[in-house]
Amino acid sequence: MAGASVKVAVRVRPFNSRETGRNAKCVIQMQGNTTCISNPKQPKDGAKNFTFDYSYWSHTTADDPSFACQRQVYKDIGEEMLLHAFEGYNVCIFAYGQTGAGKSYTMMGKQEPGQEGIIPQLCEDLFQRTGENTDPDLTYSVEVSYMEIYCERVRDLLNPKSQGTLRVREHPILGPYVEDLSKLAVTGFCDIRDLMDAGNKARTVAATNMNETSSRSHAVFTIVFTQKRRDQMTSLDTEKVSKISLVDLAGSERADSSGAKGMRLKEGANINKSLTTLGKVISALAEMSNKKRKSDFIPYRDSVLTWLLKENLGGNSRTAMIAALSPADINYEETLSTLRYADRAK
Ligand code: ADP
Repeated sequence: MAGASVKVAVRVRPFNSRETGRNAKCVIQMQGNTTCISNPKQPKDGAKNFTFDYSYWSHTTADDPSFACQRQVYKDIGEEMLLHAFEGYNVCIFAYGQTGAGKSYTMMGKQEPGQEGIIPQLCEDLFQRTGENTDPDLTYSVEVSYMEIYCERVRDLLNPKSQGTLRVREHPILGPYVEDLSKLAVTGFCDIRDLMDAGNKARTVAATNMNETSSRSHAVFTIVFTQKRRDQMTSLDTEKVSKISLVDLAGSERADSSGAKGMRLKEGANINKSLTTLGKVISALAEMSNKKRKSDFIPYRDSVLTWLLKENLGGNSRTAMIAALSPADINYEETLSTLRYADRAK
């Protein structure tokens, strides 16, 4: 497969109050695009270095010159992916990491100025760019869907009436899709923001009703972006359709198998399975694009998440992954495992 490439970034957040309360020490250092993690038990010789496309230092405050703000993360990763979508590629950005490491902050962010994450910034930029079009033969349309995958089942976050789970099917040409998933046409950023807010609320409500937390499910926000060009001579239309999938993954922390029983155990196993499969898919694609791999078998079917993202990960697509890191010594093992996961995606 030609040119599949995965951009990999890591981002370290400030201490949270729990970490500050426990007098946590920062185990992460960054220099250029290199991230160094030191082992709190062997501070002298236990350090490991990893190099990524971007290493974002968001541990200090905005007045630190090395601080990576929401705008910068969007500019480097979101904008690049949006431009690929304008070129006609399918694109996918996903955030990986343990619960509380900063995935939703990076993807959704907050509504305060300067705190919006990649998803709202990308949507705003998309409408800004389409609004600047002066070519009468070129028209755009945008449709949005928002779903959550929990225990290999899909829920529609934009249809509050849909209580149950939706069927995953396969179209002979268009590939895997979710039957009856709402796809809503939007004409401006305000429409999208309202849908995003409604979807995020539905996610929290569903999780509370089921006695879960939303950190145990994957949230997939999809924009289907269509560019239609009319040929003046023939009056024929040609269409370029790009699917932009923006994914906030379930927390990657390993379920504590000693205490987990019944549903919790099943939940943990499903999360592990989809994250492991995603890791396998991404590293297989990375190996293929680095020409290190001969076989072109990619295990998309092994999880609902990778199956539904098939058209966004392989083939005619561009992928970026952002791994969110806790800075604290108390999370050392999880953070190291996140860095290893990100390292395999390169
Ligand atoms: P996750 O989605 O991985 O569970 P969150 O994104 O909810 O984690 O982040 C946990 C907390 O840390 C939130 O209060 C969030 O605002 C804060 N946070 C995360 N990343 C950053 C960052 N880069 N800068 C400032 N605050 C952050």
